Amino acid sequence: EKCVNVVGAGLAGSEAAWQLAKRGIKVRLYEMRPKKNTPAHHTGNFAELVCTNSLRANQLTNGAGLLKEEMRQLDSLIMKAADENSVPAGGALAVDRDAFSGEITKTLHENENITVIEEELKELPQGLTVIATGPLTSDSLADSIKEFMGDEGLYFYDAAAPIVEKASLDMDKVYLKSRYDRGDAAYLNCPMTEEEFENFYNELINAETAELHAFENERFFEGCMPIEQMASRGKKTMLFGPLKPVGLEDPRTGKEPYAVVQLRQDNAVGDLYNIVGFQTHLKWGEQKRVFSMIPGLENAQFVRYGVMHRNTYLRSPEFLKDTYQTKKRSDLLFAGQMTGVEGYVESAASGLYAGINAARLIEDKDPLVFPVETMMGAMAHYITHASAKNFQPINANFGIVPRLSQKIRDKRERNLALSKRALDILDKYKLENEL
Ligand code: FAD
Repeated sequence: EKCVNVVGAGLAGSEAAWQLAKRGIKVRLYEMRPKKNTPAHHTGNFAELVCTNSLRANQLTNGAGLLKEEMRQLDSLIMKAADENSVPAGGALAVDRDAFSGEITKTLHENENITVIEEELKELPQGLTVIATGPLTSDSLADSIKEFMGDEGLYFYDAAAPIVEKASLDMDKVYLKSRYDRGDAAYLNCPMTEEEFENFYNELINAETAELHAFENERFFEGCMPIEQMASRGKKTMLFGPLKPVGLEDPRTGKEPYAVVQLRQDNAVGDLYNIVGFQTHLKWGEQKRVFSMIPGLENAQFVRYGVMHRNTYLRSPEFLKDTYQTKKRSDLLFAGQMTGVEGYVESAASGLYAGINAARLIEDKDPLVFPVETMMGAMAHYITHASAKNFQPINANFGIVPRLSQKIRDKRERNLALSKRALDILDKYKLENEL
């Protein structure tokens, strides 16, 4: 019987398996957790979110928002689970991480077309296969991929932010508010005076970091740069980043503090909060010492410290086609962070794309190349056409889609027009290709 292998049940692999199974195609879904864990995952759940619980912007004025809408139009399992398990986060889509990944795990386990195999796959398999083993692909499989590609893989480090218990916060100092009061008040804010900021900054840049392995060169995932690294770029840098106070007046004084550290709800119950933008490479003891200087966090209970990990991705411009097939083997597809798309939703979107194409290939149909006006199409085009030499992973953004024929000055209006164009084109494309 015809069957597709999907390797890795993360954000990309879960979506790819879903897209195949819902088209009536049999799937063998390989996942090594919980038997063998990665350095960043904590559960045996599919589509576990390893860092923040935010899937970023949800509006059509933003590239990540458009990508989400395109995925909804294509019956994405990841988007369905995200929408159903969202928690308040202003204009962003954040989720209860356990409920989100729990729903995806259950749906895939219960699907009669999917056989879950709880095993580490150590070598590239024969037959139609989607590899979606992510930035923390196990070593043996990474070696097998390297051998097949005939080139060195690329590695760099990522960082994850600490999570604290709400009950341990000093609520006399902390206040609830979203920036500019947009959406429901969703963040807990820790205000700092100039003096508090100075002290914090000085301790942060001098704190002790965990060791980096010699073979890794220090290149960071820009959206997830360690806070101490950002601080080391200049005293004011954090004030324009995660510690930006604008739109966050303290309701008790009516004034904007000198700096504000924001905490974002991390689970549906609302008893856990993550420190926004505080991915870090500091040693755990140092995290407790330095982050406890933040007003309100003096006695904070840390349920998880920030950590840093390897990120593995292919030189896609050299090795991949814009169908997510490899150039060397047309029945081998890659999806997710490994292809050089960056982020939870981007990874899931590439899984959706590769899943649709694997379904077409097994039925002897030509694989699809989504229109470049759509965010999904633009990302596939970008990772396969960028310069291979300095290839860097990318987030969904409007910089990679073709310009509009008419000029629109206002950025919001322009982005909305780009989104409208993308969704109109996708509508037609869906009809033409019976998606
Ligand atoms: P994953 O979700 O990691 O899924 C890969 C799956 O494959 C895993 O379940 C793994 O167990 C399994 N696997 C690996 N090797 C094998 C094997 N040989 N056999 C069988 N199974 C295997 N993105 C964001 O948008 N926001 C963030 O805050 C963010 N923070 C990150 C922090 C860290 C520490 C890391 C590493 C990445 C972060 N990313 C973040 C980037 C990226 O979005 C996520 O890593 C995302 O999970 C990638 O999706 P994926 O499907 O490609 O990989």
